[in-house]
Amino acid sequence: MHEMSIVASIVDIAESEAKKANANKITELEMDIGTVSGIELDALNFAFDSIKPRTMLKDAEIKINIIQAKSKCVDCKHEFKTENVYTLCPECDSYKTEILQGKEMKVKSILVD
Ligand SMILES: [Zn+2]
Repeated sequence: MHEMSIVASIVDIAESEAKKANANKITELEMDIGTVSGIELDALNFAFDSIKPRTMLKDAEIKINIIQAKSKCVDCKHEFKTENVYTLCPECDSYKTEILQGKEMKVKSILVD
């Protein structure tokens, strides 16, 4: 489960930011997770729950924004929602499509106290 190591590095980043701000604890952490980022939300939440108690995020609220993946067809410029990174254009069946959003896996903000 790679979510465990992802969460461990997110916690590291959050803690070093909090220390820079001379904070004692992190109260909120907000993340963007794309639907084709390869992250399993259940696994991510489980990883946070297991790691949090030993960190400055002990009492933090974890907010996760789900970013619905969207692709754009290079040939006909049609934009469409997708569940896969590689997909055919539903308008013209072109295979030349590119992901516009949905691969994100990033920390958006951290609130400290
Ligand atoms: Zn197309």
